[in-house]
Amino acid sequence: MSDLRTFRVVIVGGGSAGIMVAARLLRARPSLHGNIAIFDPSEKHYYQPLWTLVGAGVVSKESSEKEEASQIPKGALWIKEAIESFLPEMHQVRTSRGEMIQYEYLVVAAGIEIGWDKIKGLPETIGNGGVCSNYSYEYVSYTWECLRTFSGGNAIFTQPNTPIKCGGAPQKIMYLADDHMRKTKVRSHSQIIYASANAGIFAVKKYADALQYVINRKNIHTNFRWNLIEILPEKKEAIFVHLDTNQTHTLSYDMLHVVPPMFAPRCIRDSPLADVAGWVEIDATTLQHTRYPRIFSLGDCSNLPTSKTGAAIRKQAPVLVSNLLAFMDQQSLSARYDGYTSCPIVTGYNRLILAEFDYKLEPRETFPFDQSKERYSMYRVKKDLLPFLYWQGMMKGRI
Ligand SMILES: Cc1cc2nc3c(=O)[nH]c(=O)nc-3n(C[C@H](O)[C@H](O)[C@H](O)COP(=O)(O)OP(=O)(O)OC[C@H]3O[C@@H](n4cnc5c(N)ncnc54)[C@H](O)[C@@H]3O)c2cc1C
Repeated sequence: MSDLRTFRVVIVGGGSAGIMVAARLLRARPSLHGNIAIFDPSEKHYYQPLWTLVGAGVVSKESSEKEEASQIPKGALWIKEAIESFLPEMHQVRTSRGEMIQYEYLVVAAGIEIGWDKIKGLPETIGNGGVCSNYSYEYVSYTWECLRTFSGGNAIFTQPNTPIKCGGAPQKIMYLADDHMRKTKVRSHSQIIYASANAGIFAVKKYADALQYVINRKNIHTNFRWNLIEILPEKKEAIFVHLDTNQTHTLSYDMLHVVPPMFAPRCIRDSPLADVAGWVEIDATTLQHTRYPRIFSLGDCSNLPTSKTGAAIRKQAPVLVSNLLAFMDQQSLSARYDGYTSCPIVTGYNRLILAEFDYKLEPRETFPFDQSKERYSMYRVKKDLLPFLYWQGMMKGRI
């Protein structure tokens, strides 16, 4: 008999994905009470989609944060430790304190790692001298500080050359910045530049067309295939490399909103669970690991070929739970995920395009009207309804 601590289900990560899965598993199978362990070292749980509105000064950053303890569903045990390595052949994980934990089934939901140090000069400059980012709770308020005090000049918004969480977020804050600069009457002596490593504004044609219209209306300058590689804070310059020509370009900035490159967390990248790019390698429809059938994954750390969002996880979690329970019962895995994801693209204070699409990059809209049109009603959905549904519905496994 092994004397290792053993759980029927171990969940790595208690963020959006980990909590949604735990809550749903416990609702669907009460016998799992006391048999699910969630490993997460973080004391706090964040509703990150609000950070766009925090950066624009609409809501406080505190409204996006709750105690992790308050989100752990009744019946699950929260263990405040990180998982450092995976031993899938032995059905074990090792914690940051070096303890080996035995599991019957494993759900990997450890989110994404942000490569702050992958842009030269960024770690020293972030949060100072006009260099800001909505991608961190620590710095998100500084974006608003930059916008609030902006008195004209170059405002640059970047998007990196890797998958990121919420692919639309780098441009949402730019549209809000434009709107704010018009209100404070500094827009006429400012230039807004979108410097993105992507080849175009959005992957789905219907929304790309709508966004191009927004960009033209707002007179935003776009540089596609530009990847930020270095910041020179003394000269207030940002250096980019063009991904097709390899040429470097230097732009001076007064405000620089940076979205750093992102990667699968190191513990996954260095593990047998990873695909060649480092993400957890799962079947795109069943969410079961392709080599280790007792392992499932979802959310930002998985290799699902869709946009990494909380909205996508809301559709992944029921599929994962249904298939995991079927697997426990030695039934076939019949639930299927079709790549659904959603990006509420805020195009100004009080306007929003609600992009929803699937693996085929086909629109999959919820409402009976054209969601590529900017609407006030959809802005209210993002600002008020979705945070409520997240805390009261999704985190409790109800929706
Ligand atoms: C600025 C911004 C705007 C966004 N806008 C939207 C939006 O409008 N709509 C939308 O749907 N989504 C949006 N998102 C994306 C959304 O927040 C993420 O896709 C979602 O939170 C991912 O959930 P996750 O559980 O995979 O990761 P997370 O929620 O980040 O949770 C990962 C958890 O794993 C833990 N962890 C990490 N490593 C380990 C380890 N080794 N061991 C144990 N635990 C570990 C972490 O502490 C964390 O709690 C946005 C994100 C940002 C930053």
